[in-house]
Amino acid sequence: MPDTSSSQLSLFDSREATTAWTVRVSRRARRLTVRVFHTGRVEVVVPPRTSARTVRDFLQRHRQWVESRRERARRELPAAAPFPPAAISLAAFGEHWSVHMAGGSGRGRLHAAGEGRLEIHGVHCEETLRQQLRAWVVAHAAMRLGPWLESLAREGGFSFGRMSVRRQRTRWGSCSSRGTISLNASLAFQRPAVVRYLLLHELAHTRHMNHSARFWRLVATYEPDWQLLDRELHGGWRRVPDWMFNDVE
Ligand SMILES: [Zn+2]
Repeated sequence: MPDTSSSQLSLFDSREATTAWTVRVSRRARRLTVRVFHTGRVEVVVPPRTSARTVRDFLQRHRQWVESRRERARRELPAAAPFPPAAISLAAFGEHWSVHMAGGSGRGRLHAAGEGRLEIHGVHCEETLRQQLRAWVVAHAAMRLGPWLESLAREGGFSFGRMSVRRQRTRWGSCSSRGTISLNASLAFQRPAVVRYLLLHELAHTRHMNHSARFWRLVATYEPDWQLLDRELHGGWRRVPDWMFNDVE
């Protein structure tokens, strides 16, 4: 979740190898770590001033592990679903939206025609429609997550500055030192218990800006099952429809 001090820096990716990977320099990193995302993307997190050679040697040493993780990611990645989807389930809010192609002419537009019914009017190119669907999910998630976060904050006596909902690829949420809580719009596709845990996790960061034992003790007072839910959230990318992301990578 928050790793606010890190900066995104793609030094290079290796095209000669079968593995494409990116390097992220993190001021917090004390050693090199490697992560394989659900898409098969490989990210190496390194402390500042790590040489390219050190990164290559590190990857070489962990090649087998990385390859087995990428293989598993490939197997588990769902097949691309038809687009546009016939329906969109927002598990977090217990909502199921059916998607209707309403035809018509003119510029393509998408709108919610009553509870649970999305209508697509006019002429769309696929990419425009993807953008509109994503924008709708982001706006809808913000509308639902805002009051949820506020009520959890009230119950727990937390105060936060501002909430923003964005489409992010690698984080479910973060909390800045100013108390701004950023949430990933794809939380909409996760189970309510998992979303509640993430909201409490970020609220707990308004008191502890770290993942110390005190932080986790605080989280545990509100959510004793946090470990299970945290693990489920890590695998939660698989619940996100691919149209939320296939503009990137
Ligand atoms: Zn955190």
